[in-house]
Amino acid sequence: PCSGCSCLAPGAPTLLRLRGGPPPPAECPAVVPRCMWGARPYRGTPSALKPPLPFVYIHHTYEPGAPCRTFAACAGAMRAMQRFHQDARGWDDIGYSFVVGSDGYLYEGRGWRWVGAHTRGYNRRGYGVGYVGDYTASPPDAHALALVRDAFLPCAVRAGRLRPDYALRGHRQMGHTECPGDSLFREIETWRGFQASGAASSAPVHSET
Ligand SMILES: [Zn+2]
Repeated sequence: PCSGCSCLAPGAPTLLRLRGGPPPPAECPAVVPRCMWGARPYRGTPSALKPPLPFVYIHHTYEPGAPCRTFAACAGAMRAMQRFHQDARGWDDIGYSFVVGSDGYLYEGRGWRWVGAHTRGYNRRGYGVGYVGDYTASPPDAHALALVRDAFLPCAVRAGRLRPDYALRGHRQMGHTECPGDSLFREIETWRGFQASGAASSAPVHSET
């Protein structure tokens, strides 16, 4: 399924770990590339990000509402979301930069290089990382939380994608949405880099400065 694409792109964590155990703490997590989940091509011409970026925004997908715990389920969720974002929303591609499965893997959305469509008004300032599922009532599995908190984020800093002093926020802090769900939001409030909103937290922010 991977012919004609780079499953071992420079800077992309190797998928060889699929055959091994969990990564040591300091290593970069495996990212399932677009070709492996059966992505359609990007539509149009993508805009380049200018890393290192200062922000990360955490989302839940809400639909699909259930965590995906197998490659087949996660790849299917990726294709469904891309189809919805392209066909119903009219976007160029799946909105998220990266998507978190509960099968132990991150999935490549727009990836490190291209501006996403995840956090309106802020897509050029940060990466959008979305957990597959609805995390209003219960949080993602502990290993899926750790994958982003302990592996993905430190790796992004070391790779020069994120600033060492990056700020992490939930989508709800940036606009009128419940995303990433009450339960997941309570989790990310404990993460390194989490930036609480000011007094105007519930108000939409109209400035990009
Ligand atoms: Zn969101």
